Amino acid sequence: MSSSISTVTPGREEVRKTTPGPILLLGAPGVGKGTQAKELIKVWGIPQISTGDLLRGNVAQGTELGKTAKEIMGRGELVPDILVNEMVAVRLQQADTANGYILDGFPRTLVQAKWLDERLAALGGALPLVAVSIKVDYNQLLRRITGRRNCPVCHSIYNLYGKPPVKEGFCDVDGAALAQRADDTEKVFEERMRAYEALTAPVVEHYRALGRFAEVDGDRPIAEIAVGIVAAIERLRS
Ligand code: AMP
Repeated sequence: MSSSISTVTPGREEVRKTTPGPILLLGAPGVGKGTQAKELIKVWGIPQISTGDLLRGNVAQGTELGKTAKEIMGRGELVPDILVNEMVAVRLQQADTANGYILDGFPRTLVQAKWLDERLAALGGALPLVAVSIKVDYNQLLRRITGRRNCPVCHSIYNLYGKPPVKEGFCDVDGAALAQRADDTEKVFEERMRAYEALTAPVVEHYRALGRFAEVDGDRPIAEIAVGIVAAIERLRS
């Protein structure tokens, strides 16, 4: 594995040949799990599995799962474990996960975490998972969430405060009109934070206790955070 971590610049290097195995990105809503997952894709070429994106896809397609999830998500609550676990189980069967993947937004409860641990043990993959928790303070998260906009076409993520598009309201990449997630309002954010503190914070402690765990400061430039995450993962893998 490369020892020149300090020179790694996600996005500017070639996809690495090493296989990082399963990576968990943990952290409260708005810490930048999705943004960082996209940086890690550039480094390792492994897929991002975002349960939020998968659920929104189900909502958009009007599947049974989507119909159940829509209102729950709109309230900022968590979709039942059994439904989310099943959705992840199906996704993990796809061939592109063979060399590793980045789980973003999963597991979010201890039930999900234990399910995942057992599943990975049963699958007997070559590498155990590593977990990285991204930390950002509450007020900063609120600004990030209420300022977040995304491109419905290419899925680029912007922020009105931190990373605005060149032309207000439109994607820099393809010019599509930017959208705001229905649950990115202050009221729903408060509920999502409540759910995080009650149900997901214990998941962070679960993985901290298991080892193969790192915590990074998420209140820095995107590329700098990514370098920190890559370094942490390589350290945990060495
Ligand atoms: P996210 O895009 O990760 O912020 O997720 C958006 C919403 O999808 C959350 O507020 C939950 O309602 C739902 N969701 C996403 N991932 C999970 C999960 N692992 N367990 C339960 N609900 C989830």
